[in-house]
Amino acid sequence: MSITYDVIVVGSGPAGACAAWRLAQAGVAVAVIEKAALPRYKTCGGGIIGRALQALPLDVGHVVEQPCHRAQLIIHPTGLSFTTHRPIPIVSMTMRDQFDFALLSAAQAAGAVVHQRRALEDISFHKDFVTLVTNEGSIRAQFVVAADGAFSTVARKMRLADGPVLIPALEYEVTVPLDRLDRFHGVARFDFGWLPDGYAWVFPKQQHLSIGVLSMGRRGGDLKSSMARYLDLLGCRSVTRIEPHGFVIPVRRRSGPFVDQRVLFVGDAAGFADPVTGEGISFAVRSGLMAAQALIDTQLKEEPVRNTYSRALAETILPELRTARWLGRLLYHYPRTRSWAFAWQGQRLCEAVTDVMAGTRTYQDLALNPRTFLKFLAPREFQRTAQGNDAGTGRIT
Ligand SMILES: Cc1cc2nc3c(=O)[nH]c(=O)nc-3n(C[C@H](O)[C@H](O)[C@H](O)COP(=O)(O)OP(=O)(O)OC[C@H]3O[C@@H](n4cnc5c(N)ncnc54)[C@H](O)[C@@H]3O)c2cc1C
Repeated sequence: MSITYDVIVVGSGPAGACAAWRLAQAGVAVAVIEKAALPRYKTCGGGIIGRALQALPLDVGHVVEQPCHRAQLIIHPTGLSFTTHRPIPIVSMTMRDQFDFALLSAAQAAGAVVHQRRALEDISFHKDFVTLVTNEGSIRAQFVVAADGAFSTVARKMRLADGPVLIPALEYEVTVPLDRLDRFHGVARFDFGWLPDGYAWVFPKQQHLSIGVLSMGRRGGDLKSSMARYLDLLGCRSVTRIEPHGFVIPVRRRSGPFVDQRVLFVGDAAGFADPVTGEGISFAVRSGLMAAQALIDTQLKEEPVRNTYSRALAETILPELRTARWLGRLLYHYPRTRSWAFAWQGQRLCEAVTDVMAGTRTYQDLALNPRTFLKFLAPREFQRTAQGNDAGTGRIT
């Protein structure tokens, strides 16, 4: 039997890297195993929303390619367009290879051992430890943090039957002429209803655009043709280069428990992406840190670890995801109601969602606070005055 660690983290995305960082900082002997060669490309918009930045324990300013203080939301098929603005970035645009590697490097600097090109293949359980079989031999640990993404091998090998609901999404890295790139500068653009139960987006990076589409329906419809139509709409037909990528997003979490036999599930492996937007980095970071904290606070004692991590999730992420799921259903499954609601209260709704993205409000606050409902019922003239000058609404030209 080879090396033994206190904790092995499987996967070096934001969930795994943050868990490893916190554990290493506390002096826990921790290793990360990652199947890819690092830094690795990850199919993702790379948009770090304010809520995620707040959760991050580390400064990632050096890997932000473009801060977006504005968000534009266009509602199809009505063509209504709304813009919101915040003094702090609503979305900070990164490339995930750089973002994830920055977090992992911090974990490594704090003392975590990183094994890249090392894939978990199997897992077995003993009284006081876990054995991980990898393509490079076996490793032992007292605990495992499963941060291995939406198709979690750990969960599959443990035969956990309660898998998350995965939806398909495309992300194209699109190189456009400079004048076209400038048109999108500083704005995160979202086109809701562009496909029947999903949306499309444009995230501006330093040298190119990350353009994506997702469908909240599990079958996904014809994402490729939705993307082709979207590229036409944006005037990006005559681009210089397109790199197409596709992956899945877990928009409905595992039913739990999130700790099973000395394994703690975090991030996409637990199914913690936001069912309204598909954004996953916020809760990947938070759950990674919470899992690590539970291990540290309980000094690696099995039952207390289980209770502490389960309780932390039940008090924070799980109720927020429950409310988000309910709001997501309203947004995607009732297109006529959506059009009506945005025609009546579009700017206010966009401001509210922007607040959640910026991390200044929660979905629970939006959905469960009676004062919020009263505000939505206020006459529109009053709301315009109350919103100040930053907001703008109108039809797209
Ligand atoms: C098209 C698309 C666009 C998205 N855009 C955004 C966005 O703009 N903003 C946002 O916040 N979220 C976005 N998301 C969601 C986001 O990418 C995920 O929620 C986030 O990456 C989850 O982080 P994680 O650390 O849990 O998992 P991941 O980032 O998926 O990391 C898992 C890691 O585990 C490794 N791994 C897997 N199996 C094994 C194994 N057997 N052994 C060892 N290592 C293994 C993988 O190589 C990977 O490095 C998007 C997703 C998609 C598909």
